[in-house]
Amino acid sequence: MNDSTAVADKTATQNPQHLHSRVFEELEIVRDPSNLYHQTIEQVLIAAQHVGLKHHQQIILAQPKNEIMVHFPVLMDNGHHQLFKGYRVQHNNALGPYKGGIRFHPHVSLDDVKSLAVLMTCKCSLVRVPFGGGKGGVKCNPRELSRDELMRVTRRFCSAISNQIGPDYDIPAPDVGTNAQVMAWFADTYQQMMPEHTRQDTARIVTGKPVEMGGSVGRDKATGQGLVDVLDEMLPELGIDISKMTFTLIGFGNVGGWTGRLLAERGAKLTAVLDHTGAIHNANGLNAIKLTAYVEKTGGVGGFAGAETITQEDFYGLDVDLLVPAALEQMITATEASIIGAKVVAEGANAPTTPEGDEVLLQRGVEILPAILCNAGGVTVSYFEWVQNKCSVTWSPEEVDQKLNQHMVLAARRVKLARHKYECNMRTASYCAALEAIGRVYDLRGVFP
Ligand code: NAD
Repeated sequence: MNDSTAVADKTATQNPQHLHSRVFEELEIVRDPSNLYHQTIEQVLIAAQHVGLKHHQQIILAQPKNEIMVHFPVLMDNGHHQLFKGYRVQHNNALGPYKGGIRFHPHVSLDDVKSLAVLMTCKCSLVRVPFGGGKGGVKCNPRELSRDELMRVTRRFCSAISNQIGPDYDIPAPDVGTNAQVMAWFADTYQQMMPEHTRQDTARIVTGKPVEMGGSVGRDKATGQGLVDVLDEMLPELGIDISKMTFTLIGFGNVGGWTGRLLAERGAKLTAVLDHTGAIHNANGLNAIKLTAYVEKTGGVGGFAGAETITQEDFYGLDVDLLVPAALEQMITATEASIIGAKVVAEGANAPTTPEGDEVLLQRGVEILPAILCNAGGVTVSYFEWVQNKCSVTWSPEEVDQKLNQHMVLAARRVKLARHKYECNMRTASYCAALEAIGRVYDLRGVFP
C-alpha cells in the first residue's frame, strides 16, 4: 500500500521484552504492560538497541532525573478548602532546560506525567530545539472549576513548585485542560515571587502565554500547523493529496481544532469528529469554523446541527485517508486498531496508540506517523517564544511559520532517513533519530565526575 511495506521491518521480528528486560531488572521496575510509562520506555529502549545507545545511557533515560509531587490547599467558591495533588517531572536536561506542558485533568497520575516527560525529551531532540524534557499536571477537573477556582489552583500550584522551576531551568507550557490564560496566571504568580528587578526577564518561566504578555504569534496554532507541515512532507509519498483527502479527528481542542481548520483551508474534507461528548459525522464535510464556534459555546462537538450522531465504532470504521487522534493517551487499542478505516494515522496527541494497537495497525498496513514528530510544532514555537523573550524581540507571523516549517520538514526527513538506516517502523525511527543526538551529547560530555 505504501512505503512501509517496501522496507523490511526488523522491529516487528524482535522480542521487545528481551531487549529491555535487563534495564527493567536493573532499575527494579516491575513491568506492567498496561502502564503508559513502561510502554513508552520499552519503545525508547527498542530504538536504543537500533542506534547502539550505550547501556549506561539507556539506564539514565529509563528514569527521570527528578520527580516532584506536591499537595496544596485551595479555597473553593463554597468557602471550603480542597487539597489538590500536583506533579512536575524533569526527565532529562542533557540538551537544554527541562521543557513540557502542564495538564489539568482528573486522571493525571505520576506515571503518565513521567511518560509524557520522556516524550518531551525525545521530541525536543528530534526537532533539534535545545531543550530537555519535562511535564507537569494537577489532578483536577477544570470543567468543574469556576474561573476563580481555576486561577487559584494555578497560582497555588505555581507557588508549590516555584523553587524547582526557572526560566533557564524548567519552563512549563499549556497542555490538556490548560491554555494561554492559565499560563498568564502562572507567569504572574512566578513573577510576583521573584525580586522586583528581575520580574521582566522571568516572564520566560512559561511559554504559550497570551501575545499581549510576551507570547509568540502563532503559538496557539503551532501544534496543528506543525502537523500539517509534517503531512505535507509525508503524504505525497503515501499517494495522498491533501487538497483532495478526507479526514477524521479525535478531539477538537487546541490540537484537533487547529488541525481541522488548517486542513480544511487546504481543501481537505473533515467528515467526522469524536470527543468526550460523542461522535458526529457528515459525509459531505463538517464546517470546521462553525464547529469551532459551537465547541467554544457548548464545550464539545455533541449535538452540532450540521451533522448526524454516530457510535464510536462507526467513527473508527469510517473509510477515510487520514485519522488524527488529538485527544488523550491510549485511545487506540487493539480493538479500535482492528476496525480503523483510515489509511494513515497521524498522532496529534501524545501516546494515543497502545503497543497492541500499534501492532494491529502495522499488520493491517496502516501507516502511523508518530506523536513525537507530528505534534512537535507546539514545543518548537514555544522555543521561538522563549528566544524572542530572551532577546526582547518579536517575530512576524510569517517568520514564525517559515522557521516552524523548516524544523518540521527537517525532522520528518530525519525520521524517514532513520527508517531506512535502521530498517524499522516510523515510531521506532522517530525515537532513533532523537536518541542519536542525545547519545552523541552524552558521548561528548561523559558522566560526572
Ligand atoms: P485540549 O484540552 O485543548 O483538547 C482535548 C480534546 O480531547 C478535547 O476536544 C476533548 O473533548 C477531547 N477528549 C477528552 N477526553 C476524551 C475522550 N474520552 N474521548 C474523546 N475525546 C476526548 O488539549 P490539547 O492541547 O488539544 O491536547 C490534545 C493532545 O495533544 C494531548 O495528548 C496533548 O498532550 C497533545 N499535545 C498538545 C500540544 C499543545 O500545544 N496544546 C502540543 C503537543 C501535544
